[in-house]
Amino acid sequence: SMGPPDPILGVTEAFKRDTNPKKMNLGVGAYRDDQGKPFVLDCVRKAEALISSKQLDKEYLAIGGLGDFTKSCAQLALGADSEVLKSGRNITVQTISGTGSLRIGANFLSRFHSASRDVYLPTPSWGNHTPIFRDAGMQLKAYRYYDPSTCGFDFKGTLDDISKMPERSVILLHACAHNPTGVDPKPEQWKEIADLVKKRDLLVFFDMAYQGFASGDIDRDAWAVRHFIEQGHNIVLSQSFAKNMGLYGERVGGLTLVCKDAEEAKRVESQLKILIRPIYSNPPMNGARIAATILNTTELYNIWLEEVHCMANRIIKMREQLAANLKSEGSTHNWEHVTDQIGMFCFTGLKPDQVERLTKEFSVYMTKDGRISMAGVTSGNVGYLAHGIHAVTK
Ligand code: PMP
Repeated sequence: SMGPPDPILGVTEAFKRDTNPKKMNLGVGAYRDDQGKPFVLDCVRKAEALISSKQLDKEYLAIGGLGDFTKSCAQLALGADSEVLKSGRNITVQTISGTGSLRIGANFLSRFHSASRDVYLPTPSWGNHTPIFRDAGMQLKAYRYYDPSTCGFDFKGTLDDISKMPERSVILLHACAHNPTGVDPKPEQWKEIADLVKKRDLLVFFDMAYQGFASGDIDRDAWAVRHFIEQGHNIVLSQSFAKNMGLYGERVGGLTLVCKDAEEAKRVESQLKILIRPIYSNPPMNGARIAATILNTTELYNIWLEEVHCMANRIIKMREQLAANLKSEGSTHNWEHVTDQIGMFCFTGLKPDQVERLTKEFSVYMTKDGRISMAGVTSGNVGYLAHGIHAVTK
C-alpha cells in the first residue's frame, strides 16, 4: 500500500508548485545567503580545489571511514586536549551524516545495551528521531522539554521527568540549537541535568547536528558535550557536518562512543564494524575528504571558523529584524522568544490553522508545528514574513 509522504520534504514539494513570486520556503533546514541562495562555503571550494590537485584515487575507505576525518571530527567535538582522546578511550567512525550516525548508534544500543531498550526523546524533538530509534528496535519514551506557555525551556518538567526515568535508560539530548524549538538549557541548567542523569545512571546519547550554528563559536556550542564527559559520563555522540560546513548532500558525519578504557573502545569498534558492513559496507569518501582537509589545514580551518560565525550571525540578525518588523506591523504579542531562541529554527508558537493561512494567503511554507527555518529569511523578505505572521495572528 502507498505510504504517506515525508512531512518536511512534502513542504518543499508544495512550495515548488506555487507560482507566487513572493513565496518563501521555511520548511527545510538548509542555510541560505541573504539573497536566499544555497551557500557553498569558501573553505569548501578551496578544499575541493586542493583535493582535486592531488589526483587521489577512489579506492574503498575502511569500514569506519577516513582516519584523518574521524580523528579531527572527534577532536572538534571533544576539544583538542580532551582526556578521552589522550587516553584513546573513544571510538569514532565516519557515518552517512547525522542521520546515519544516529541510526548506527541506535542499532548498536539495540544490540548491546541490554540493560534497557528505552530511549527518552525530548518533546518535541527532530521528527526523524522517532523512526530512527523505532526502526532500530528501541522503545520510544518522552520527557518534557518545551513549555508552550513561555515558548521557552521547561526546566522543571525536564528535571521531574528525568528523575522518574528507570535506571540505565537512554536519554537523547540535543547538544545545542535544539531542533525544532531553538530552545537550549543554560550552562547552569546543563550542570543540574548532568548531575541528575548521573544519579539515575542513564546513558546519554548526544545529537550534535549544529555545532557552531547556535552561538557562532564551535567551542561554546560543544560546552554541554564536554561538560558531561568531564563529569564522568561515557556518552554516545552523533555529529553532522551538513549544516556547519554546508555539506548537506555530501553526507558527512561521525559517531563517537566514549568508553571505559582503550581496550573497551577496541571491542566496541569491532562490533561497530560488524554492524556497518552489511548496511553500507563503508562510507563515501568525497565529503569526508573535504571536511578532513578543512579541519587539518590551518588556513582553511580559520576561514571555516569565520564562515560559521557569519552564518550564525546572519540568522541572529534575521531574528532581530523579524521581531522588530512584527512590532512595527503593530503586533502586540510578545515575540521575545523569536530572539531568545537560537540556531537554525524558530518555534513561532503559530497554531496549525494560522500556519495554514500563512501558506494559503501568503505562500509562506513551513511545518505544521509552527517551526520556521530562520536560514530561509533574508533582509529582502523579512518584512513580508512579519506582515504575513501579523495578519494571521491579529
Ligand atoms: N539531528 C538533528 C537534530 C537535525 O536537525 C538533523 C538535520 N535536520 C540531523 C540530526 C541530521 O541531519 P543530516 O543527516 O543531514 O546530517
